[in-house]
Amino acid sequence: MIRTAARRAPVAAVLALWACAARPTKPNSEMASNRTDTKNPLLAPWTGPWGGVPPFGRFKVADIKPALETAMDENLAEIERIAADPAAATFENTIAAMERSGHALDRVAPIYGIYTSTMNNDEVQAIETEMEPKLAAFSDRIIQNSKLFARIAAVYAARDQLALTPEQQRLLWLRYTRFVRAGAKLDDVAKARLSELNQQLAGLYTKFRQNVLEEEKSQLVLLDREEDLAGLPPNLREAAAAAAADHGKPGKWAILNTRSSVDPFLTWSTRRDLREKVWRMFTMRGDNGGANDNKLIITEVLKLRAQRAKLLGYPTHAHWQLEDSMAKTPERAVALMEAVWKPAVARVREEVADMQAIPDRERAGIRIAPWDYHFYAEKVRKAKYDLDENEIKPYLQLEKLREAMFWVAGELFGLGFAAITDGSIPVYHPDVRVWEVTDGQGHHVGLWFFDPYARPGKTSGAWMNEYRPQSRLEGEIPVIVSNNANFVKGRPGEPILISWDDARTLFHEFGHALHGLNSAVIYPSLAGTNVARDYVEFPSQLLERWLATRAVLDRFALHYQTGQPLPAKLVEKIERTQTFNQGFLTVEYLSSALVDMKMHLAGETPIDPAKFERETLASLGMPAELVMRHRPTHFLHIFSGDGYSAGYYSYLWSDTLSADAYEAFAEASGPYDKKIASKLRKYVFSVGNTVDPADGYRAFRGRDPGIGALMRKRGFPYTGTASGASPTTGAH
Ligand SMILES: [Zn+2]
Repeated sequence: MIRTAARRAPVAAVLALWACAARPTKPNSEMASNRTDTKNPLLAPWTGPWGGVPPFGRFKVADIKPALETAMDENLAEIERIAADPAAATFENTIAAMERSGHALDRVAPIYGIYTSTMNNDEVQAIETEMEPKLAAFSDRIIQNSKLFARIAAVYAARDQLALTPEQQRLLWLRYTRFVRAGAKLDDVAKARLSELNQQLAGLYTKFRQNVLEEEKSQLVLLDREEDLAGLPPNLREAAAAAAADHGKPGKWAILNTRSSVDPFLTWSTRRDLREKVWRMFTMRGDNGGANDNKLIITEVLKLRAQRAKLLGYPTHAHWQLEDSMAKTPERAVALMEAVWKPAVARVREEVADMQAIPDRERAGIRIAPWDYHFYAEKVRKAKYDLDENEIKPYLQLEKLREAMFWVAGELFGLGFAAITDGSIPVYHPDVRVWEVTDGQGHHVGLWFFDPYARPGKTSGAWMNEYRPQSRLEGEIPVIVSNNANFVKGRPGEPILISWDDARTLFHEFGHALHGLNSAVIYPSLAGTNVARDYVEFPSQLLERWLATRAVLDRFALHYQTGQPLPAKLVEKIERTQTFNQGFLTVEYLSSALVDMKMHLAGETPIDPAKFERETLASLGMPAELVMRHRPTHFLHIFSGDGYSAGYYSYLWSDTLSADAYEAFAEASGPYDKKIASKLRKYVFSVGNTVDPADGYRAFRGRDPGIGALMRKRGFPYTGTASGASPTTGAH
């Protein structure tokens, strides 16, 4: 996952990615300070080495709000000057000038982002509550500046006569397209209608989210007796007891209406009747009638989105959303999903057959139902692979894995990492450490901040964050990125042991960091990870693959007591379980992604969500043994904001690329093939958004991506002859 601060607003408004993570909740407390300070330390240019570093330790939290306000005012004044320039519009005095503007905001916004996501407290939350709407309004003021847009449009109209570089053409196209997409081309009446639609939608998104949260908060399955806990391991019993006590039922047990409570219960409980009850509660969120029912909201949201798309000149909301994605059209995204759908469903049938054999053997007289899937899948996993997570963990030391990532970055991209321990680079919390990143010649590339531990006020999960993008527009500006996680801090001197999944996430986020660190572009808003939503997870998903390489495991997966590397037998078990249960995981994801896309392709036809869901799944041939990962009535990705609407397919799209790209290494001399690594850097990791991602990928791979590699990665049979269907087996 990546987080983009609210920098360079007109672009960032579209690019901001807050995937997967809930933003911190907002309190009611009021901002205490209202001072405006011309000597605000956050507004000053950064000092220190390498183009300056963030001034951590030299400002107060109370400086953030006035700094943001002053920085926005400054940027608006700059934009006004660009818009009012008496000279005819040129790329230089309009597009490049916008890139040169907003420096103060570029410095303040990352600090604001760091504090809201990792140093959050009442004071920070109050600033956030006040500033979020102001930042949104700031963005609107730039988009709706008609003099500014007239200049952008004039440059765009003359683009073929301007002798622009490919990077400049790309920047111009992105600027123009994003202004148009946000309504800059509309007349005043339509603009007013657009902002009315946006406001109505914003209200519905909030209501939708609150309805889901309310049902998740208020509903639970209460377990009265010891025998209701049958099958649950001790840690789940303790969690259920604590949950009941929290809900005023001490001495009993409660299964809450959240995935982290429901999934383990469905996996371990031997009480089929209770599994069904818990499953029904969870899958019916937002669909229970009454005050928290989301069906009418969905109908209304889809209608307003369709109207907005039409107003903006697009056939449907899906067409509007996908225009600046890599897929470009909904049809291409649907084609990918449908190609994977059939084999995934076939795999589900095999998984169900494996599971059905168990109750059949036991003469239990049941057919596998959706509330049985997790339970019997776990039994099959034990029988087939005999893999115990606790056997692996002693070999996965956080700091050793960090060294492993550095080693991989050195092998693939020639990067070197040196810890800065003399205190010369200030940090915002004592847990945060900094490394200087250099290239093969020892030249400075950038800084990598690492903030690995959980603490109060830090958002859960893991993510990458960019403090300053690389650029060359105003001299060589080196990049500053950070990786953030929530590991529980060990006692001093004790290694922190992490799970295989967490190790993969560590590599994933480091992949985003390398995408930022390898950036070699001129214009800052095109740098590093500032790419399309269905492309940004490609470099990070790809880097995950190096964790499981023998070179990494042999050197860095060392037992914390004996220093011995992970035994080959365990490595083989890990490799064999990579494709386990992929039928279930793919179908529950894909059914959601397909329903999302089809709902947003329906145009202005009024949609009854229950009927639409039923009919769409029936026409797809959805297996009866499982449900969508997110049914429409609680599909927060697509109905609590525009972000992932008609965009839930993005995860599959990026994974198709990562699987296909990794096979390029397998087809050469292996994961550390220097020639392929250098192409990967040249055409993917260094180009940011300066090229169309499809062109960049083609330059790297020598052809378009095929889905063969994805099918092999997930263990699905694939006999297609399309590009990418090489006979290699994806050795890792
Ligand atoms: Zn990611």
